[in-house]
Amino acid sequence: METITDIRQMQQWADATRSRGQRIGFVPTMGYLHAGHLNLVRAARSHSDAVVASIFVNPLQFGTNEDLERYPRDVRRDTAMLLDVGTDVLFLPEAAGVYPPGFQTTVTVERVTRGLCGAARPTHFAGVTTIVAKLFHMVKPHVAVFGCKDFQQLVAIRTMVTDLNLDIEIVGAPIVREADGLAMSSRNAYLSATERQAARSLSKALAAAQALVEHGEVDGLRILAAARRVIADESLARLEYATLADPDTLEEVDAVRRPTLLALAAHFGRTRLIDNCILSRESTARTGWRKSPDSQLSTAN
Ligand code: AMP
Repeated sequence: METITDIRQMQQWADATRSRGQRIGFVPTMGYLHAGHLNLVRAARSHSDAVVASIFVNPLQFGTNEDLERYPRDVRRDTAMLLDVGTDVLFLPEAAGVYPPGFQTTVTVERVTRGLCGAARPTHFAGVTTIVAKLFHMVKPHVAVFGCKDFQQLVAIRTMVTDLNLDIEIVGAPIVREADGLAMSSRNAYLSATERQAARSLSKALAAAQALVEHGEVDGLRILAAARRVIADESLARLEYATLADPDTLEEVDAVRRPTLLALAAHFGRTRLIDNCILSRESTARTGWRKSPDSQLSTAN
């Protein structure tokens, strides 16, 4: 595995790889990797000849009172994990090159970034789409893989790619979870033991909602009430939102008559976590859900 830190060198590698007729697959991350990230690398491999994974903790997507400074970092461990899973290039751009003095250009996707996480984090998605657009110009991928864990981010990036006519295929990969259902996240490292227990309420809330839908419930208020109740039962959990939305437009809906996004954000102490699933009347065999909230959950979204 080659490690590249220089942006110009990354572009030259991309040009040389493309001129050999090889497809470039790309997985952008902020590091402190876990099995969810590695699954994205595997997915990228299956769509390409050479895989680039980037690690860049992007200051532009953190709000002023957010966790930029304490965001976990361990490049040595990440490097070993990426090597192990068969990554061709680890791209570690330096912040000074990414945001040089005088930088004043951003990419903003409007409607799909307003609700859900965008309501509490109004500048976050412009930071994400800007860095992803920039990384796309550095790595020049044919295909890029993003996790459904950050569902709104995936929709924002798909929208950017369509709206700006970018010639890049976007692949969404399913959420990878811990054995007890908690969606893997670099931020899980912040959780105390009791917060970690309480954080299980997120996936339990999704499972409760999915169980209701499978029993024929379509009313959005009742489905959301069931999800909220599970989280309210955890004294350490503070719900930020529980929202039902159309998975393509992210517009809120009040009934589940077709596959519908249920997205959650909650705070556990100082740590903000998100989770989501696609609710569907189809049985678990189709959606990928298992009945028990304690079993390994995976979504087909
Ligand atoms: P991050 O490093 O958290 O910015 O995430 C980098 C990429 O990994 C994004 O596309 C995320 O959606 C994806 N990702 C993070 N956690 C998971 C997970 N548990 N399952 C699948 N993808 C994930």
